[in-house]
Amino acid sequence: MRRKVIAGNWKMNKLPNEAIEFIQKLEPLVKDTKNEVILCVPYTDLFYAIMTAQGTNIKIGAQNMHYEEKGAFTGEVSGEMLKSIGAEYVIIGHSERRMYFAETDETVNKKLKSALKCKLKPIVCVGESLNEREKGIANEVVTKQTHIALEGLKDSEVSNTIIAYEPIWAIGTGKTATSEDAEKAIKAIRDEIAKMYGQKISSGVIIQYGGSVKVSNAKELFNMPNIDGGLVGGASLDVEEFSKIINY
Ligand code: PEP
Repeated sequence: MRRKVIAGNWKMNKLPNEAIEFIQKLEPLVKDTKNEVILCVPYTDLFYAIMTAQGTNIKIGAQNMHYEEKGAFTGEVSGEMLKSIGAEYVIIGHSERRMYFAETDETVNKKLKSALKCKLKPIVCVGESLNEREKGIANEVVTKQTHIALEGLKDSEVSNTIIAYEPIWAIGTGKTATSEDAEKAIKAIRDEIAKMYGQKISSGVIIQYGGSVKVSNAKELFNMPNIDGGLVGGASLDVEEFSKIINY
């Protein structure tokens, strides 16, 4: 039985004092959940969030990393740097990074390998655009993205990777994929993993849905057989709303 993993993606929001206050408020609201709780915060909040979440069931992650270990990459942060301050998770290949910061399937694959080498737990985002969905090639697009992202990994590394299916047209728009469409896309991703690494590995991989998850749609989405929780953007900025999604 796969666990449910609910991760918040704060994007470029919240200062350290706001992060500390949020985690202090969230902790009692989610302390009894069986679901895994993750907050992916801006780099500048990481240290404060990690310190505040110590001894709680809230895990902290970053939203990006560079694939090189070190070197002349001004402004970048490596996986080892994240790990060294106690980050556990890292989002890789979010559609906003693909759209605004030239992230490609190939750099996603390099970052994933680098994160796993540093013993970070990656959350790899895949998802189709509206145009691709309207053309009827959504599943083709996400399976190709998944294939390139996961190429050349060891079985154990695939098992330690979380995939987030995030249709681009549903991110921050208030539009959500129907639970049936999300289930179909996630099933297609799981089938691709099975082709690459076998049924046993594939059936254990956590695959989340992301795209305008709210209290009102979380239960229906997360109760689908292949959907193992969610990556939550906007709704993770509000502590009450996010706690209700976690306790769906
Ligand atoms: C996201 O940024 O990963 C996301 C899913 O955002 P939202 O929930 O706001 O659509």
